[in-house]
Amino acid sequence: MSDRWDVILVGGGNAAFCAALAAAERNLKILVLERAPEDESGGNSRFTAGAFRIVYNGVEDLRRLMPDLTDQEAAISDFGTYTSDQFFDDMFRVTRYRTQGDLCERLVVKSYESALWLREKGMRFQPIWGRQAYKIDGRFKFWGGLTVEAWGGGPGLVEQHVNIAKKRGIEIRYGARALSLIYDGHAVTGVRVKQKGAIYDLQAKAIVLACGGFESNPEWRTRYLGPGWELAKVRGTRFNSGDGIRMAIDIGASTFGNWSGCHAVGWDYNAPEFGDLSVGDNFQKHSYPWGIMVNATGRRFVDEGADFRNYTYAKYGRVILNQPDQFAWQVFDKKIIPMLRDEYRIKRVTKVTASTLEEFAKKLEGVDPKGFLDEIKRYNEAVRKDVPFNPNIKDGRSTQGLEIDKSNWANTIEEPPFEAYQVTCGITFTFGGLRIDTAGRVLDAGEAPIPGLYAAGELVGGLFYFNYPGGTGLMAGAVFGRLAGGSAGKAVAG
Ligand SMILES: Cc1cc2nc3c(=O)[nH]c(=O)nc-3n(C[C@H](O)[C@H](O)[C@H](O)COP(=O)(O)OP(=O)(O)OC[C@H]3O[C@@H](n4cnc5c(N)ncnc54)[C@H](O)[C@@H]3O)c2cc1C
Repeated sequence: MSDRWDVILVGGGNAAFCAALAAAERNLKILVLERAPEDESGGNSRFTAGAFRIVYNGVEDLRRLMPDLTDQEAAISDFGTYTSDQFFDDMFRVTRYRTQGDLCERLVVKSYESALWLREKGMRFQPIWGRQAYKIDGRFKFWGGLTVEAWGGGPGLVEQHVNIAKKRGIEIRYGARALSLIYDGHAVTGVRVKQKGAIYDLQAKAIVLACGGFESNPEWRTRYLGPGWELAKVRGTRFNSGDGIRMAIDIGASTFGNWSGCHAVGWDYNAPEFGDLSVGDNFQKHSYPWGIMVNATGRRFVDEGADFRNYTYAKYGRVILNQPDQFAWQVFDKKIIPMLRDEYRIKRVTKVTASTLEEFAKKLEGVDPKGFLDEIKRYNEAVRKDVPFNPNIKDGRSTQGLEIDKSNWANTIEEPPFEAYQVTCGITFTFGGLRIDTAGRVLDAGEAPIPGLYAAGELVGGLFYFNYPGGTGLMAGAVFGRLAGGSAGKAVAG
């Protein structure tokens, strides 16, 4: 089979579809190659909550993005603002100032514009009332810089993308795995594909790689993230095995970013090896800032309340992986149980309950009961009970005098019933990848653009180091997908 196209997008997630939409602005012949079969398509993007981190300076900006927002909904919501300064601060702080300046600037400065662009293409958004706001005095107050999600979450995001793309005449081939780039020593001229057992070449004037990182590849995880990472569970798609990165490196592309780093969270201990679309992101357990986490010795090992969960969850998966036997129990008492996020209420959950601490200690599988009871005693005594608990701010209700103090939201564990949830490490995506310029072109080892080759999404390196502010992956996919697809389209259309 041989075919000629203007622009081929490798990947079927948010970044690829944003790139396809941008390229389609020039009336070109565009093809999306999706490795997954249709029923598993959409990459990690489909597993998400659909949350986008977007700069906005007030409710009027949000109204333009979400024209469906009623006056009554606006009246009961305190959206506050999320300025570009706040976004820059968050990126700099969590990446310890390692985020690459040009890429980070693009991400922040183009976030609102790119979301609006998606909205104009037909994408619907809504406020994240459920997970990112608390009701205080009758109003929902948003707390973490993360206010907007795609209508219908991750599945809704991908469904909308597919519909919008099809309306624009963009063709999608499912079960079509890109194997290698066709390269004449100067420019990329096409891609070799495997589909239904057959291998064929497609010619294209430009290729955009948007086929994810290497999180689903245990061998690469162990090689680059380090020993033990083969034991992590994969939160999302099983199809992101580093193909795009490998294909580009094979023709001389430059690598960039935090290759030993990744986004990884606390994830149900008995979750399957890869994500399950019927559960989505609900194997995560993100209410740990209000409780404590203990390991096999019964001891705490991390400051659960160091910051809002949006700024700690992505790095605590690694901390859990590094514990003996790679697990932790998240522990709560009666005061907090009603506040636990919805994901604690699903059927497939590894949970124990008890009505005394002694019974609790015996039930926590793998945990030294004596160590646990000693730890709870020490912890309860160290809680600053004079400071009121307030989940909406960093409340300063800390512990004092422990080896690892809890900085905020330190609630005692003393009132039955008690509940605990066992988690291990769930990897979301890898941080290392390809080096691109500010036009989305893939650079070679001499930092010159490789003609005909563009990249966007997870497989771009240089944005995230060590940690990540929640909701930035989809935004980065939109900003850099739009950029890469737009540049590819412009180069092809001339
Ligand atoms: C459970 C979970 C929840 C998350 N929640 C959020 C959230 O709410 N907000 C947020 O911003 N981020 C979230 N993320 C992170 C987010 O999913 C990613 O940052 C983002 O979706 C990456 O988009 P992408 O298009 O680069 O990759 P993906 O969406 O993973 O798409 C990659 C695509 O490439 C395809 N592919 C792979 N190899 C090939 C090949 N050889 N040929 C052809 N196709 C190939 C895959 O099948 C897939 O369709 C979450 C991730 C997970 C797993």
